[in-house]
Amino acid sequence: MIQTDICIIGAGPVGLFAVFEAGLLKMRCHLVDALPQIGGQLSEIYPQKPIYDIPGFPSINAQELVDNLMKQIEPFKPSFTLGERVETVNRQEDKSFILRTNEGTEIHCKVIVIAAGLGSFEPRKPAIEKLEEFEGKGVAYMVKNPEHFRNKKIVLAGGGDSALDWTIFLSDVAERVTLVHRGETFRGAPDSAEKVFEMAKEGKIDLVLKSNITKIDGNGQLKEVHITSTEGAASVVAADHLIPLFGLSPKLGPIAEWGLQIDKSQIAVDTTDYSTNVEGIYAIGDINTYTGKLKLILCGFHEGAIMMQSAFKHVFPDQRLSFKYTTVNGVNAF
Ligand code: FAD
Repeated sequence: MIQTDICIIGAGPVGLFAVFEAGLLKMRCHLVDALPQIGGQLSEIYPQKPIYDIPGFPSINAQELVDNLMKQIEPFKPSFTLGERVETVNRQEDKSFILRTNEGTEIHCKVIVIAAGLGSFEPRKPAIEKLEEFEGKGVAYMVKNPEHFRNKKIVLAGGGDSALDWTIFLSDVAERVTLVHRGETFRGAPDSAEKVFEMAKEGKIDLVLKSNITKIDGNGQLKEVHITSTEGAASVVAADHLIPLFGLSPKLGPIAEWGLQIDKSQIAVDTTDYSTNVEGIYAIGDINTYTGKLKLILCGFHEGAIMMQSAFKHVFPDQRLSFKYTTVNGVNAF
């Protein structure tokens, strides 16, 4: 069981900066994110877009902001569970909480901060017969650790950047990579598409165009992928893993089940400290709602600073908090 003062659900920009504010008050944080990488919407949706409204930065690239935030919180040594979604929250007799992820990881904490943005990014699942039966038994919707696919037969499906990028990357790791795409051209970056066509020509990968995966099969573990072309020709490819990459869409998911006051898929908070209706649980960033709310990164940063002052009383009930500037507190807290 992971032990921490504060468990932050969501490692987007707001969750990351909250670690800094907690660290100044000597509170330790563990972050959980359903995505395999940190950065929330910035890394997942618009890593190369410039952002113009971060104070002190006339322009900053989204991924650079995430990298900077990671550097800023480094002194506070946060720990991370990535690629896992928080499913349940249980309050203990002493008012602390135990959170459990979909993969069984348990986190024990005194305070929960929900910085879950638009919700958990869930994979768009294609209509393939028996797809869900083989989830975790060969079917995966994201690549958490490429080493998992070393010397394996991989079938990828999709026509966007993720499908192209992972085809290129895994071709050096896997025994064989097959990319199945329903079109003839790709939506992803032209450079990547060109590389994939070239690799297929050189025989480094198998490229199956104008085709759909219709069914998968195996014996408790995935063994084969059935493909049908738009002209109706059927074929079967041996596969250890199928990775359908048809994008992600955010869903509030299990957060709706935790007894929180939800208003139009967002969590209602008290703006004096961004606390929710459940004592010890706070909500900051895009996930919360209140009169005048603006879904901006800088507003989430502000909310994190205010809420950590309030969280202090749950983590250190016997201590009095006196506000200090960073020059006084320093950042080498641990
Ligand atoms: P997010 O960035 O959404 O991160 C939340 C994280 O929580 C996600 O990674 C998600 O996987 C995770 N999560 C959710 N539920 C769970 C769960 N149950 N278990 C585990 N993990 C979970 N804002 C600006 O200020 N300036 C801009 O220029 C700007 N441009 C934008 C451009 C675009 C195209 C978009 C889409 C948004 C833009 N925004 C901009 C808005 C900005 O991205 C958001 O305000 C910001 O990302 C909110 O940060 P967050 O940390 O609250 O949430």
